[in-house]
Amino acid sequence: MNEYDSNRIFDLTKKIKYEATKNFKDADCYILNTCHIREKATEKVYHDIGRLKKEFRNKSKPIVLIVGCVAQAEGDVLLKKEKYIDAVIGPQSYHQINDTILRLEKKIKSINITEFDVIEKFDSLNSLKNRDNKISSFLTIQEGCDKFCKFCVVPYTRGAEYSRSMKELILEANQLVSNGAKEIILLGQNVNAYNFKGNKLSDLILEISKIDNLKRIRYTTSHPKDFTEDLIEAHKNCEKLMPLIHLPVQSGSDKILKAMNRKHTIKEYLEIIKKLINAKPEIKFSSDFIIGYPGETKNDFNNTIKLINKIGFINSFSFIFSARPGTPAYDLIKVDSELAKSRLIEFQCISENVKTNYRKKLIKKIVKVLFENKMKSGSRYFGRDEHFNSVIVESNKDLTGEIKDIKILRGNQNTLYGELVSTIDQTNCAA
Ligand code: SAM
Ligand code: SF4
Repeated sequence: MNEYDSNRIFDLTKKIKYEATKNFKDADCYILNTCHIREKATEKVYHDIGRLKKEFRNKSKPIVLIVGCVAQAEGDVLLKKEKYIDAVIGPQSYHQINDTILRLEKKIKSINITEFDVIEKFDSLNSLKNRDNKISSFLTIQEGCDKFCKFCVVPYTRGAEYSRSMKELILEANQLVSNGAKEIILLGQNVNAYNFKGNKLSDLILEISKIDNLKRIRYTTSHPKDFTEDLIEAHKNCEKLMPLIHLPVQSGSDKILKAMNRKHTIKEYLEIIKKLINAKPEIKFSSDFIIGYPGETKNDFNNTIKLINKIGFINSFSFIFSARPGTPAYDLIKVDSELAKSRLIEFQCISENVKTNYRKKLIKKIVKVLFENKMKSGSRYFGRDEHFNSVIVESNKDLTGEIKDIKILRGNQNTLYGELVSTIDQTNCAA
């Protein structure tokens, strides 16, 4: 989501004649977009400011804005502690970035803008064409969260759940496709909670799938509680909807899920998985896990291990519990940090094994790859298969934007290498 936000910030600042530079050493204005989900975020800000101060020691100081969730959560402290920062702007106040820069050009200092103006933000962004021109482009459809998992900062930094209107999303999706996008990844902190005047995520997917030149649709991140029958049906009916679902479970123990306030049990989670596989057998899953949540016993941890083996997640993202100030889990008694670390290592060994076994089975298989770009070296092209695996092939012909059948020859944990086997293009979805 921060990548989408950063692109929109670039679109915005163009209006006041600022352009993105690839080299921060040239910048007149430095905007640091931050994430607050786990600790060390604030230290990263101070670290980056240190780097800037050093770089600009003998030059005129750039305007420095800290935006995003760290600005929302710790804006006042940042402004007080680090005089080099000119303004902090929360994620629902991006529409005020241009005015802020213009004021700062006139040397008005230390601005804190952290109101929750989400409607105003999207109203003002809607008037600007989305200029992102990637083959695979992000589109934020929903922001914020009302779930209040006990460990999570999102409800406090991004605010309450808000869904953008179908009309503005279809317009923006069309803009992205006319810029060259072949794939759109719909984004939301709880993307499947999307609901605009009764229109749900499945309705939006079916509408967007009608855009002719759009070949693929994905969405992330889903919450198990909001995985409704209509969304499962959409997987059955829409070929453009890709068969990889990121469905964070966090823990394999019902006791821990309850303590986290996740609002579902493992049995319910497994039922969703079963229904999705029944609807479309090629669907695969990835997930997020928090290891060492307060109260996690060896038995709870073993249940998490059992779950990854049972489902065979093709990607698992695991994090040690990070106590976030302001969340209900902050003051809970922690699992010993060495024990949590050793559990994380054990978890990652097992989840990597599950992944290796899955990837071994892909060797000699033919997968459909959407190519996103030519790589810097040689005549190699980078793309992703339907399950979002990174694939690289050699080709003398430009493959950018095309979907090709690729035979997988070899691979490692991050990348698969293959060869072109046919020129057959993917069938379009009749929504
Ligand atoms: N909304 C999604 C859901 O509920 O599944 C997750 C969104 S959250 C931005 C992304 C991931 O960060 C979570 O799934 C969780 O695994 C991890 N996370 C969030 N807060 C955390 C914390 N305090 N400590 C460790 N990991 C955390
Ligand atoms: Fe955070 Fe996701 Fe829970 Fe919302 S549902 S509070 S975003 S982890």
